[in-house]
Amino acid sequence: MFVPCTPKGCIELLHRYGVDIKGKRAVVIGRSNIVGMPAALLLQREDATVTIVHSRTKNPEEITRQADIIISAVGQPNMVRGSWIKPGAVIIDVGINPVEDASSPRGYRLVGDVCYDEACKIAAAVTPVPGGVGPMTIAMLLSNTVSSAKRAYNFN
Ligand code: NAP
Repeated sequence: MFVPCTPKGCIELLHRYGVDIKGKRAVVIGRSNIVGMPAALLLQREDATVTIVHSRTKNPEEITRQADIIISAVGQPNMVRGSWIKPGAVIIDVGINPVEDASSPRGYRLVGDVCYDEACKIAAAVTPVPGGVGPMTIAMLLSNTVSSAKRAYNFN
């Protein structure tokens, strides 16, 4: 009935920033039911050619380097390095990973699956962590809630 919020937010980000999806090569890293799989299906619905990379994939770096669009939903800090990225690729980093940081009051900070500093030098665009996909997930939850209310009360 409803598109899962996090992958829906990823596609919305691509649309809002005018990223062409049709005919592009997309790699989704991760195949969970709540993020990776629906993200791959949504990209395919937008006419991308989609490859899914998972923990048993033999050559993830080589496959990911072919992508025009990367959606990473793995849960491994800084796994996607600069060498995994095709120049000009667009990267959506879904990962939220705590790493030790003695300089932070909490003793840790949050980073994504993608090595942000390296990605910034190679990619055309990359979402930050935190502050990228997380807020989009909340926005899409509200969007789904409004759709649900419209259905329940027969609004157009
Ligand atoms: P999950 O259920 O643990 O799935 C992780 C996926 O990554 C699995 O498919 C796994 O492969 C794959 N994977 C693990 N290690 C890998 C490796 N070394 N190489 C390639 N693939 C690997 O996690 P999830 O719920 O999808 O969440 C993923 C990340 O997104 C987490 O950091 C989570 O906190 C974050 N997240 C963020 C939001 C947001 O709003 N920003 C929302 C949801 C989740 P296998 O299937 O082979 O095990």
